[in-house]
Amino acid sequence: MNVVETKQDLRNTLESFMNNQQSIGFVPTMGFLHEGHVKLIEEARKANDVVVLSIFVNPLQFGPNEDFDSYPRDAVRDDAIAIQAGVDVLFRPQVEEMYPEEPSYTVSVQNRVNVLCGKSRNGHFDGVATVLTKLFHLVQPNRAYFGMKDAQQVAVIDGLIEEFHFPIELVPVQTVREEDGLAKSSRNVYLNEKERAEAPILYKSLTRAKETIVHGERKKQVIIDQVSSLIESESSGTIDYVELLSYPDLKEVEVINGKIIIAIAVKFTNARLIDNITIEV
Ligand code: AMP
Repeated sequence: MNVVETKQDLRNTLESFMNNQQSIGFVPTMGFLHEGHVKLIEEARKANDVVVLSIFVNPLQFGPNEDFDSYPRDAVRDDAIAIQAGVDVLFRPQVEEMYPEEPSYTVSVQNRVNVLCGKSRNGHFDGVATVLTKLFHLVQPNRAYFGMKDAQQVAVIDGLIEEFHFPIELVPVQTVREEDGLAKSSRNVYLNEKERAEAPILYKSLTRAKETIVHGERKKQVIIDQVSSLIESESSGTIDYVELLSYPDLKEVEVINGKIIIAIAVKFTNARLIDNITIEV
């Protein structure tokens, strides 16, 4: 595996692959790799000649009171996991490499951001869209892999690729979970023992909601109340949001119909967890 830290080294490394018309699969991450990231890498490995992984904790997508400084980082462990998973090129820039100075240009996302994480994390998706625009230009991948755990991110990037004419195929990948259903996340390490034991209720509440819909319930509010009360009664976490929207448009619905997403965010002492389920009615 080739580890590169500068834009120039990345370009030099990718040049020969591009000259040989080899297809590039790109997996952007913030590191502290787990099986969710590995699944993305494996999917990229299957469909492309070359797999590029980026590890960059992007300050632009963190709010002033969020966990940028304390976000978990472990380069040695990440290297070992990336090699094992079959990454060809690992791009790990420092912040100064991606943003040598205060950015003069940022991407401003107008659609699909007044709901879910966009509502509670002001500017988050502008930061995501800005860094991905830069990374897409640098890596020029044929395909880019994103996890459905961040379903709003998938929807936003889908729009970014379309509207900015990136010749990139977005490949969404299903959420990888622990055996008890908790979605794998770099932030799970910040749960204390009691919270870790409670956390599977997030996914359980989503699967229960799905059952209720399958049994015929069509009123949004009934589903939201069911999910909220289950989380409130069986965890010490504080609900940030429980929302039911159309997917991928992320529009309000009152009556459940077509493809919808139920998405939740719950704050524990040192970690805010998100999860979701999409259902086709
Ligand atoms: P992150 O490092 O958290 O920014 O995540 C990098 C990519 O991995 C994003 O596309 C995430 O959606 C994806 N990802 C994170 N956790 C999981 C998971 N449990 N299953 C599948 N993909 C995931």
